[in-house]
Amino acid sequence: MEEKKAIAILGSTGSIGTQALDVISRHTDAFEVEVLTAQNNAALLIAQAKQHKPNAVVIGNENLYQEVKDQLLPLGIKVFAGENALASIVEMDSIDLVLTALVGYSGLKPTIRAVQAGKNIALANKETLVVGGELITRLAKEKGVNIYPIDSEHSAIFQCMVGEFHNKIEKIILTASGGPFRGMKKEDLTKVTKTQALKHPNWTMGAKVTIDSASLMNKGLEVIEAKWLFGLKADQVEVVIHPQSIIHSMVQFEDGSIKAQLGLPDMRLPIQFAMTYPHRLKGDFPRFDFASYPALTFEKPDTETFRNLALAFNALGRAGNMPCVLNAANEVAVEAFLNNKLGFLQMSDIVEKCLAKMNYIAKPTYEDYVSTDNETRIIAKELIY
Ligand code: MG
Repeated sequence: MEEKKAIAILGSTGSIGTQALDVISRHTDAFEVEVLTAQNNAALLIAQAKQHKPNAVVIGNENLYQEVKDQLLPLGIKVFAGENALASIVEMDSIDLVLTALVGYSGLKPTIRAVQAGKNIALANKETLVVGGELITRLAKEKGVNIYPIDSEHSAIFQCMVGEFHNKIEKIILTASGGPFRGMKKEDLTKVTKTQALKHPNWTMGAKVTIDSASLMNKGLEVIEAKWLFGLKADQVEVVIHPQSIIHSMVQFEDGSIKAQLGLPDMRLPIQFAMTYPHRLKGDFPRFDFASYPALTFEKPDTETFRNLALAFNALGRAGNMPCVLNAANEVAVEAFLNNKLGFLQMSDIVEKCLAKMNYIAKPTYEDYVSTDNETRIIAKELIY
């Protein structure tokens, strides 16, 4: 019997984190939980730790340290707090795989530290690759670290590529559901509310990614994520709207043949594959039934209405620190939209203005990413508030 894989979950109380723990609890003979971390949800972190008995936990918000410590230290679980603890916990010798389920830019530093420590990564935090894809993929290569995608589209591409060795990819086709506002025009979108935007037709996800899905920014970020994960050029990444979310993405090889990966939309599948690659574990998740889906349909994305997708391709084309600008501006815009401070369409305006205003850095260092992120947030906030 093989040894259990020791997993650290960064962001265990979010949507991906809780689903990862669900996968682990179905396969306790294959995995054990080594580390759990959360930013603010102390109550859930404590409950998860009591159930899964990790070696250590980190609570990001230092004000909650005492509460978490009082509950878990008596159980022999180490408790740490703060941003630095989050970044250094990933270096623990006993960790085999770091699953990064943090939201947004906050994932960059701990991911870099994990790669530097030689840990394989199961990556759900797409913003990390959007911001620092060049740096992270270069580091991963140096350290011999594998990055297994959890994002369903990227997992699909990864699964299509298994067994293809060095066969050349002509292009990849990322599928997008189109979100709750598919088919709407600008006039319709001026008055949509956050409640409407938070209702995704096919997937249950965290608030940030759900808003990004409604605005197509999620697909834009995924285009950039795919570029780095699979070493592609921008013109090798195509986006097609597929409202049923059954085909999770496709790869077209240089002979013209296309491979697709299908299944019901359930994030536990890509989470599990990222943790078990190259093996598959038996799962009892609901099965896809062709007879229940008489038609799988496809259409071109409307980038006139949903400008974020075009802005993301533009940022990717310019490269350097521009994807970092795109991401930071979008994070500020989404937060403002969720706080009713910004309209749905104005989110793209903020991103576009930040891309135009920020200084271009062709070959950013880690410090350049940090300052680009900071400065973009200041500009975006000045534009909104
Ligand atoms: Mg996705």
